[in-house]
Amino acid sequence: MPIAPLKPAASPKPSKAKPDLSGVENLIRAMLKKHRTPFMLIRRSVLERQLQRFRKCLPEVTPYYAIKANPHPKIIKTFIKLGAGFDVASAWEMRQVLSLGGSRGKIIFANTVKSSEDIISARRRKVRMMTFDSEPELYKIAEHYPGAHVLLRIKVVNEGSVVNLSLKFGADPEIAHLMLRKARALGLVPTGISFHVGSQSTNVENYLQALEISANIFNEAKEHDVPLKIIDIGGGFPIQHFDNEIGVNFERMAVQIRKQIRLLFDKKLQFMAEPGRFLVGPAGILVTQVIGRTFRNNKNYYYLNDGIYGDFSGMVFDHCKYEFKTLRRGQTFLSALAGPTCDSFDTLSLDVEIPELYVGDVVYVKNIGAYSSASAVANFNGFPPAKIVMV
Ligand SMILES: *Cc1c(COP(=O)(O)O)cnc(C)c1O
Repeated sequence: MPIAPLKPAASPKPSKAKPDLSGVENLIRAMLKKHRTPFMLIRRSVLERQLQRFRKCLPEVTPYYAIKANPHPKIIKTFIKLGAGFDVASAWEMRQVLSLGGSRGKIIFANTVKSSEDIISARRRKVRMMTFDSEPELYKIAEHYPGAHVLLRIKVVNEGSVVNLSLKFGADPEIAHLMLRKARALGLVPTGISFHVGSQSTNVENYLQALEISANIFNEAKEHDVPLKIIDIGGGFPIQHFDNEIGVNFERMAVQIRKQIRLLFDKKLQFMAEPGRFLVGPAGILVTQVIGRTFRNNKNYYYLNDGIYGDFSGMVFDHCKYEFKTLRRGQTFLSALAGPTCDSFDTLSLDVEIPELYVGDVVYVKNIGAYSSASAVANFNGFPPAKIVMV
């Protein structure tokens, strides 16, 4: 790979000679005139498109947006307007949705281990649908929120999902009916089954298997005179992070999930899901700028004004990889990208192929709306995360 020589900084302005045919890059250029970097663009039209895609492909499944993926008020407001429900994991998230105008009947408190205070808070706000996966949790719910509607989260296979969500949560399906009867005995309303196949799950088998296990529990519960109503198929629906990525095909997965639902369940049951990444990930574009450069280890190192502690936190917590792009064209060189903090861990890539960049040049990443700003540290080393700009 040719190595770019270190040159004095040039104008950060992209050359006018190369027309930019990408709408995204035009948008970035326009936004650079209005906002200081780093900023995260969230495209409302993409939020709408993703919700529409979900509803079109899985028409019998009601989506409850898992706000942990990105709890920004404008995103929540957009989904409220579009009539979506919400999956919250804490009293804070519950208040966030309610204070923005969400209705309590469209919220599921989908954390299987809740503090007593948070359960009390749910009762006060009449958010009565919640999940559990253990007996101690049932006692806690029964004490603080008699009559709550509970869904048992079962442990399911997370094979091939990027983020495993069954290591910490989920009851053994074999004891499901005992748990549901226990719930009823304690004065709660056993309402359904939930599961989560792991985040960024490209393996549709996980859903199909989990649905089969759930169907067995439904039948068993019916025999024990515990009629269940709701099946919550969780989140995990995958998105493409790279332009030329293969193996991610939501539409194809949805066809199989639908077929399995029709095959195994009574039409009268209610189906819901808790998509997070799928709804918000593709809407986000992170725009950063080069604040410094150097030549080390035989390549150019570019230091950006956002990093691992900021909006690239998903590289750690979400095991995510991103496609770094620039507004420059032409010959590319093997380069390294790093964040602005004093920690060497704050390195984003040691082998990215990009054109030579100068201080002030833009590096941007698409499909980064989920698990990015949500898990960024407020101000480590004095570098705040990107401002979110809805467009
Ligand atoms: C994180 C989480 C979700 C959202 O998962 P995605 O993979 O982003 O769709 C949904 N439900 C629960 C219980 C979760 O913990």
